[in-house]
Amino acid sequence: MKHFKSTEEAVRSQSVRELLPKIIPLFAGQKRLFFISVSLLALTTTTALVGPLVLQHIIDVAIPKSDTNELWLAAGIYLAVIALGSVVSYYQAITLFSMGIRIITDLKERLFRHVLYLGLGFHGGHPPGKLISRVENDTETLKELFGDVSVNLLRNFVLFFGILTVMLLKDLRIASYVLIMIPLLFGATFWYLNFMKKYWRETRAQVAIVIGYIAEYMQGMDVIQQFNYQRRARERMADVNMGKYRIDTLSQYIEYGFWAGFIFGEIIAICVVLVVAIQGVVDGTVSLGILVMFIEFIRQMFQPIMELSGQLNFVQRGLISVERVFGILETEISIKDGPRDPSELKFEREIRFENVWFAYEDNAEGEPEWILKDVSFTVQKGQKIAFVGPSGGGKSTTINLLLRFYDPQQGRVTVDGIDIREFPVKAWRELLGLVLQDIYLFPGSVKDNIRVFDNSISDEQVQNVAQIARADEIVGKLKDGYDGELAERGANLSVGERQLLSFARALAYDPPVLVLDEATSSVDPHTEQMVQEAIDRLLEGRTAMIVAHRLSTILNSDRILVIKGGQLVESGTHEELYHTDGVYTRLVKLQFGDKSDQITANLAKAAGR
Ligand code: ADP
Repeated sequence: MKHFKSTEEAVRSQSVRELLPKIIPLFAGQKRLFFISVSLLALTTTTALVGPLVLQHIIDVAIPKSDTNELWLAAGIYLAVIALGSVVSYYQAITLFSMGIRIITDLKERLFRHVLYLGLGFHGGHPPGKLISRVENDTETLKELFGDVSVNLLRNFVLFFGILTVMLLKDLRIASYVLIMIPLLFGATFWYLNFMKKYWRETRAQVAIVIGYIAEYMQGMDVIQQFNYQRRARERMADVNMGKYRIDTLSQYIEYGFWAGFIFGEIIAICVVLVVAIQGVVDGTVSLGILVMFIEFIRQMFQPIMELSGQLNFVQRGLISVERVFGILETEISIKDGPRDPSELKFEREIRFENVWFAYEDNAEGEPEWILKDVSFTVQKGQKIAFVGPSGGGKSTTINLLLRFYDPQQGRVTVDGIDIREFPVKAWRELLGLVLQDIYLFPGSVKDNIRVFDNSISDEQVQNVAQIARADEIVGKLKDGYDGELAERGANLSVGERQLLSFARALAYDPPVLVLDEATSSVDPHTEQMVQEAIDRLLEGRTAMIVAHRLSTILNSDRILVIKGGQLVESGTHEELYHTDGVYTRLVKLQFGDKSDQITANLAKAAGR
């Protein structure tokens, strides 16, 4: 199965010693609940220890005395102890649950907040499905770890040593037989936990793969249906599902096998006690009460060991989730805010690319795979600049650097001579209005989509920019006007309509610089004309950078930059470049054919030359 590889899910494996300092602070905000839990824990442990002691007292003392009153009293105490234990256990469970849920709610929020600020470099390598799995699934696993498991683990440790101490005090000889078995049981448990670790890790990875698969394919539903890809999509799903099924069943087989062996161990321990103690009862050295108490304690002791293994097993799984969650939380935000105050960011003269080198990733030899190679150019305030060139040349990458979706490895981008990295990211991006090829629309009203849920932009402003961008026609078509709901991702709008909305959105912030990644998708002539008019209005009085796919829109730009193979190969106006007989000339001729000369002459005439 080549489609999704587990290696895509690779998360750095960390030791408990590394993870513990990260986990403990998570409890810091929950001191009260933690304290209550631990107190209740002490109480349940005590009741568990007192029960068998009362039982022994009944058998050894109350019954031989034939004292009915004492018998009733002891039975009453026994019952009260058991009842108290149950009530306290209930409250303890509730407290633990609230603690767990609070911790993971905080953690989920932290995780989501962090993901929002991680650069596009990170998101390129972490498709949505896998992030959903980490934010939702892994934190849910942690809920159990932080709630139930952590405190019960403590309880079982205490209970185990409590029982052992009482046993040793009550009958050293019988207790020492039990004692011999303990290292064996623990040894087996630890071996088992270690052995299972790789299975659990793989299970988590497989879960993420399945979720990733579903999320990604659901997003491409139109393509799947258009290409009748359902059957193959189903087969691939069956494949990944099967992968998870196999690893799940295998680990379950091993797990149940181990538990069966463990229960066998318990029976052996009881047999040993019976053999030793019955002999003692016959010889008169051991009382019947002690025998019953020991059997009761052994059952109670195996319970914590068994639970302990189950819980340690859960802790292991939880730790794997901790690794995955912290794997994200510790991913440094690569696009950092600079130290300068936003008020220093003016843009009065020019934006400049200075010898910029950029690679998205390294090649097999670990060398950067340069996508932009030594690119330098200047955009004067008020100019309209167009980027053209063959597809894959690096036009969108240039825009990505300008918007600081990525930072260059070498060289710099400056505004009025200052590196843009010296300003806070937010302040810099506020300067730029971005109009993307395919706008992302949020589920919500038209109004909220135009102002991106920013209530500081008034309804009047929204209407005003919608008119400028010619998006008001769309609004007219919707039943509730500006409050009309858009379907998810704007499914109830045409491509052209979505573009107009995207213009309105860019305008709502009235940015001095507009960055336009021109749509490649063709629209009907009416919309095309509307889009063109809207662009013209949009650009009025602003500095603009346009990635052009259809040259018709940029022929009269102040400057055209031709980017090919990651390099700036030509730069000038249409007329200048057209006559050089270079890359640009070929692009123009490819698009306009015989009309190219005529178009150029018309442009010159319009410009009065
Ligand atoms: P253009 O806009 O001129 O068509 P791009 O800037 O989109 O070109 O792409 C330039 C090169 O960078 C292409 O070879 C493309 O495969 C590569 N590229 C673009 N985006 C990424 C990315 N996120 N990760 C890796 N490579 C990328």
